[in-house]
Amino acid sequence: MVKCIKHSVKGRLFTVICISLGVVFPLGAAKLLETSDGVVGYSDIAKLPWCSYRKHDPTRPVPVHVYVPPETKTSGRPSDAILLFDGKDLSQWEQSQWKVENGYVTAGSGNLVSKQFFGDCQLHVEFCIPQEYKGPLFNRGNSGVFLMGHYEVQIFDSHPDHKQQFYPDGQCAAIYGETPPLVNVCRKAGQWQSYDIVFTAPTFKEGKVSKPATITMLHNGVLVHLNSVVHGATGHMNVPGYKTHNAEMPLMIQGHSCPVRFRNIWIRPLSGLKKLKL
Ligand code: MG
Repeated sequence: MVKCIKHSVKGRLFTVICISLGVVFPLGAAKLLETSDGVVGYSDIAKLPWCSYRKHDPTRPVPVHVYVPPETKTSGRPSDAILLFDGKDLSQWEQSQWKVENGYVTAGSGNLVSKQFFGDCQLHVEFCIPQEYKGPLFNRGNSGVFLMGHYEVQIFDSHPDHKQQFYPDGQCAAIYGETPPLVNVCRKAGQWQSYDIVFTAPTFKEGKVSKPATITMLHNGVLVHLNSVVHGATGHMNVPGYKTHNAEMPLMIQGHSCPVRFRNIWIRPLSGLKKLKL
């Protein structure tokens, strides 16, 4: 306990120093800061009620980077998985501006939304952030996997070689605006990466959430979330909360002004398996 308090005081001092050395950018009412470590975020957004940090807080501890070697081949698909994209066509998805070529699909304007609806699931997604991307930090590899169209696992180029980094709750593999990954497993832009997500859907009773969603997840084969609670629908600069929705909703992949590539997307709905277990 004593150790913990000491660490907390140290952390506060560090925070003050960082902000005093940082650069302040105006952005509407919110102040965008860059810490002396190159982490960009906001200082004056509401505190997240379940932890001691503010939303998009640049002084939140930055997950340590863990190196994993480049992917040498695409992963296999289990026989009971629903194939959502095999590199050839987007027949499982609503019409979009996304383009299929060379065995992958490239994010265009707007989002990619599945035709089928899902609740509890195991989801595999492979993505590649373009090496040649030149643009603002906020779009650097920005995309995201929106479970049920509401709950985003962020896709971003958070490789530690970059001088500037996004706030921890917005970095790659974060539950966006809520919870950073346990570690940063980003490969360099130009290399294929994978997410394997186990998602349990929220349940609702009398217009209120009765059980929040949870996410357990591997990034490039490394655990980054273990039963992380999802505190509500994804939003920017807001305190997340739930709004009632159906038990199954479409999967969505975000278009965010960066031509991120995707291949080999499959999903295993888990409701049938849960019934068997009972
Ligand atoms: Mg995103």
